[in-house]
Amino acid sequence: MSYKKSELAFKEAYQVIPGGVDSPVRAFSSVGGTPVFIERGEGGELIDIDGNRYIDFVQSWGPLIWGHADKDIEKSVIEAVKRGLSFGAPTLGETDLANEIVEMFDSIEKVRFVSSGTEAVMSAIRLARGYTKRDDFIKFTGCYHGHADSLLVQAGSGMATFGSPSSPGVPADLTKHTLLATYNDIESVKACFAQSENGVSSVIIEPIAGNMGLVPADEAFLEELRVLCDEHGALLIFDEVMSGFRASITGYQGIGAVKPDIVTLGKVIGAGMPVGAFGTRKEIMAELSPEGPIYQAGTLSGNPVAMSAGLTSLKKLKADPTIYKILEKRATRLMEGFKASADELNIPMVTTVRGSMFGFYFSDKEVKNFNDALENNSELFGKFHGKMLEKGVYLACSSYETGFISIATTDEMIEKAIKACKESLNELI
Ligand SMILES: *Cc1c(COP(=O)(O)O)cnc(C)c1O
Repeated sequence: MSYKKSELAFKEAYQVIPGGVDSPVRAFSSVGGTPVFIERGEGGELIDIDGNRYIDFVQSWGPLIWGHADKDIEKSVIEAVKRGLSFGAPTLGETDLANEIVEMFDSIEKVRFVSSGTEAVMSAIRLARGYTKRDDFIKFTGCYHGHADSLLVQAGSGMATFGSPSSPGVPADLTKHTLLATYNDIESVKACFAQSENGVSSVIIEPIAGNMGLVPADEAFLEELRVLCDEHGALLIFDEVMSGFRASITGYQGIGAVKPDIVTLGKVIGAGMPVGAFGTRKEIMAELSPEGPIYQAGTLSGNPVAMSAGLTSLKKLKADPTIYKILEKRATRLMEGFKASADELNIPMVTTVRGSMFGFYFSDKEVKNFNDALENNSELFGKFHGKMLEKGVYLACSSYETGFISIATTDEMIEKAIKACKESLNELI
């Protein structure tokens, strides 16, 4: 496989775009090599500018549950484009999409649309702080909630501690209200509550974590979290920007019983267009501007083209409830195939599947939190990633990312990927 054109394109991009990419996860830094530049997508596959074809298990990092260039979504977007790209005034599509969300999610009575997952979470935190009139909030090490200042805190795992920023440019003053707890460890959450001097506004969690590999929270842990939040008058925020419409059609809600106060959504909700959303009870939303004093706004929020893409995608998902069974069957088959090859060669591997999401680590340790995840053999993953790419399988370029199956990912593609895995591992030992 030749990557000549991509290599040249990357060099040129590097001159004018920091690191040659507009989001760091695209840079292949942790696996080595050059990112491939994409020319187009076709269903479950990607074609790069050198003409190489790949089975795509990234699917734009989640949004494309229908795969690339889905005809119905394409049609609705083109129709919307013809009516105009943006008006900065209300459109019917916003109410239509809001109605779909409200109908689907038990915890959502009203929803506000924004343009990214980062914006959705940032706004949800502000709403929780404004509503409870408290500044502190608790997050979990290894959970990613976008790149807003107060959320860019990961360090200090193990013991609960006041967060220090994990990026230069984020003043410590802006993260001093971010308390860090350990995923699936309720004692660490209790310690955070005890540590907070002026009260905790909210606890934010990915109920099915997808940004340290795929690590679902234990149901008992989430139940205890709910109880702790109620005892302390804190709001529970489920960040389902990734797991929403992915783990099941309603994300965690379709799998577990714990009810959050606020839900954040993104990725699939825009079907590949920039959309995020946060929703909650009417009583809490009454505090958001213009109903209430907590400010939140966006020139392109609820963009009509993006709304039409999201609405078409959701309506298609709702029309066929068997979709998630098929997706989960394919993801499970993929992971069983990978695991069988690894077992045969005595390479330790643990795998997880939730709906259309899958994860695997080169590790023999069951992963319950970020520290466990850190024990995976990421060096082996880096080499494996390169081998798979050569064989036409496009995996996320880090061992801490979740993989995605789209509806356009066929059984044949799954079998091809399993075969590629077997060959790759054989070449690596
Ligand atoms: C991707 C992601 C975000 C950030 O969304 P962007 O659209 O990249 O800003 C937030 N939370 C979770 C759980 C995510 O997976």
